[in-house]
Amino acid sequence: MSFESLGLSAPVLQAVAEKGYTTPTPIQEKAIPIVLMGRDVLGCAQTGTGKTASFVLPMIDILSQGRAKARMPRTLILEPTRELAAQVAENFETYGKYNKLNMALLIGGVSFPDQERALERGVDVLIATPGRLLDHFERGGILLNDVKILVIDEADRMLDMGFIPDVERIVATLPTLRQTLFFSATMPPEIKRLADRFLSNPKEVTVSPPASASNTIVQGMIVVPEDDKRDALLALIKSQEVKNAIVFCNRKRDVATLHTVLKKHGLNAGALHGDMSQPARTETLEKFKAGDIQILVASDVAARGLDVQDMSHVFNYDVPFSPEDYVHRIGRTGRAGKTGHSFTLAAPHEGGLIEAIEKLIGTTIPRIEIPGLEVLQLEAGDGRRRGRGGRGGRPGGRSGAPAGDKPRGPRREPREPREHREPRPEVSAEPQAVAAEAPREASHEPRPERAPRERRPERAPRDHAPREQAPRENAPREQRAERRPERNQERRSEPRRDRDDGGPAPKGLGDHVPAFLARPSR
Ligand code: AMP
Repeated sequence: MSFESLGLSAPVLQAVAEKGYTTPTPIQEKAIPIVLMGRDVLGCAQTGTGKTASFVLPMIDILSQGRAKARMPRTLILEPTRELAAQVAENFETYGKYNKLNMALLIGGVSFPDQERALERGVDVLIATPGRLLDHFERGGILLNDVKILVIDEADRMLDMGFIPDVERIVATLPTLRQTLFFSATMPPEIKRLADRFLSNPKEVTVSPPASASNTIVQGMIVVPEDDKRDALLALIKSQEVKNAIVFCNRKRDVATLHTVLKKHGLNAGALHGDMSQPARTETLEKFKAGDIQILVASDVAARGLDVQDMSHVFNYDVPFSPEDYVHRIGRTGRAGKTGHSFTLAAPHEGGLIEAIEKLIGTTIPRIEIPGLEVLQLEAGDGRRRGRGGRGGRPGGRSGAPAGDKPRGPRREPREPREHREPRPEVSAEPQAVAAEAPREASHEPRPERAPRERRPERAPRDHAPREQAPRENAPREQRAERRPERNQERRSEPRRDRDDGGPAPKGLGDHVPAFLARPSR
């Protein structure tokens, strides 16, 4: 099938041709004609499938008629992260270059006045993260009653990040007569329920995840003591031909520590996590995309949607808590038909997480060994770090830092990294190439049981001042959401206190912090 047969206009077809795309991807083939017809779409697809163009291309054509009024956007696209929002904006610029459309990008970490000026000019396409959009809405800077098309992208990621209440508030302010396009990589029951509420007689479009045939990723896993992960990572980086790589950690503080370790070992490394300022995030990402940074140590903020051409390796320093995140993480490599490599460093206690991943992807991740490093067996478990002996170490040291179920006193400072031991061990086994992404049906299976989440202090009443002018408690909404997973309590629980979207839990009282004590004082 060709793009011409989808019913797109000549200017859009020309922009697509200039981008070099000749054949629509399956999601584009299925979704574009439906969107052009004005119908609602329930799309089960993830990044890497060409999903963005599947809504951007027809939206450009629909928007070519009519004009926007000041502060009244005609269409709204909600994205869970700033990076994804920025990528969608780039898509509009690329494909809309022959159409005169006004666009505004409302994301956190960027100045309010610039965004207000853009809204004032009148926007055809508004791309936003939920928090920043509500901040503008509550300041009276925007009216949403002229929105004709709503796109909710990466709905399951929104759920993960605790944004669903914000999304519900936003949708409640939109006209009921509108076209809604709803995309999610997975369709757990909570997402399905949401889709049922937001969509009207939608056409369902499901595509197989990418790469099941063409994009192959060579996967491998080594089971080592937690404390040996750092050596294993350095050995792998040394023995592999790493052009560029992302190293994923589950926790923000581990990102920072591991970043320091890699730099001390002479590697050209950068760090990316949700606590960094937006300019720093953007700069790091641009440097990584440009090849000025070779190894990016990152939290899952980088797992979805980031489109870095030709990435050679992904390393999972920690096994992700959610099996879907494994699929997203390794999907950063092996894109566009190129071969990629992914290596997972698993400690024995992460056995339960590996089991869930292998169930989801329907295959066993090949085990590898690194000479000189002890190889262990996986244990059944929930993936939480153990506090015993040397098994609970952190990336920056072999401390065996406490990492049990509850906070136990002050966190230890990471120790100075050890000197790199020479000679480097070589990786003994080259794992087999396996299909990169999970089979679609598998992603509908129930997730493994996770430990209940600890109660967090209640939120302080909101102040709508922008972050640039306000202390942390008054930060814009999406940043607060990143830090406060208690907004996400309906979500399947996992140990997120120190994940990228959560801050430290109150110490000393375990689960039983009385609300009046937990409430921040002003
Ligand atoms: P997405 O799923 O929207 O993140 O897109 C993944 C990648 O596929 C991006 O690099 C797109 O530019 C690229 N892409 C989108 N549509 C096509 C197409 N029809 N042919 C080839 N590549 C495409």
